[in-house]
Amino acid sequence: MAIESNQGTVSSQGAVSNQGAVSNQGKVLVVGGTHGNEPNAPWLLDAWARQPDRLQASGLALCRLLGNPEALAEARRYGERDLNRSFDPQLLADPKRLERELVRARALVAAHGPEGADPCLVALDLHSTTAAMGNALVLYGRRAADLALAAALQLELGLPIYLHEADRHQSGFLVERWPCGLVIEVGPVPQGVLTATVIEQTSLALEAALAQLAGARQGRLAQPAQLVVHRHRCSLDLPRQADGSPAALIHPRRQHRDWQPLLPGDPLFLAADGSTIAYAPPADLEGQPAWPVFINEAAYGEKGIALSLTTRETWPVQPAWAGALQALAARLVST
Ligand SMILES: [Zn+2]
Repeated sequence: MAIESNQGTVSSQGAVSNQGAVSNQGKVLVVGGTHGNEPNAPWLLDAWARQPDRLQASGLALCRLLGNPEALAEARRYGERDLNRSFDPQLLADPKRLERELVRARALVAAHGPEGADPCLVALDLHSTTAAMGNALVLYGRRAADLALAAALQLELGLPIYLHEADRHQSGFLVERWPCGLVIEVGPVPQGVLTATVIEQTSLALEAALAQLAGARQGRLAQPAQLVVHRHRCSLDLPRQADGSPAALIHPRRQHRDWQPLLPGDPLFLAADGSTIAYAPPADLEGQPAWPVFINEAAYGEKGIALSLTTRETWPVQPAWAGALQALAARLVST
């Protein structure tokens, strides 16, 4: 599956960026297959490559590429380490670290980073999940431009937002290395399985994101009064035996109930003897519902995550967010 990036216009300022100056203009980076066992977005990239007229509606110059083509060919999430945990600046800068995915991450930043040879200013990273997340957005931290784009998409499509922040166990996400970026996450779908509805949902969210960026580029960005975010608080593992094997399952009344409130005493796990283990909130979540996400995500077993708990928060949308996104979008190259 050969994916070539679009050859768009690179400004003279962009060319200067190759000599180390800060890039002034850039494209939108669309990445699929950051995880090699998530083939739906790569299928879309391939379809778009065969039909160049598709995905042109926004008028924005795009760079479309496979995140981890080696892992995709192997139908594995990754080879030596998770590519989507490999963009930590310290890791990238450590010459002694030569794992396959770190080498790939460095190559992606050098080629398509904001100061890369073919600079991109916004990264849209397309993922799928085995959890029943529906069509969702994942943000990493509270960058104003990200929040504006997510707010515009929530207004247009009603997408739920998982705000991943303050998690010292999980860092180095791809989109964090671009000035603006988010993950479009669609599920449930088994690893390695192509599914038309997942492809349609991914395409819908991506096309909407590109249209919003094009609007922002022209100074037109509709924002809601409020943004609803599900803010990451902690992750829970399954209860485990002394040898590390699971001692319980996600309770059947909790399986596939992502984005639905979890209250103290609600069934959470089902032990091997058939007994129910109820949810007991961590100390800092007492007195409020938790909103679980990524329930029983297959790839997170190795990370010791059976589900992540969030709190549902409603934030007033700040005018500065749209200002930040519009200032960035004004530097996007058109086709
Ligand atoms: Zn993924």
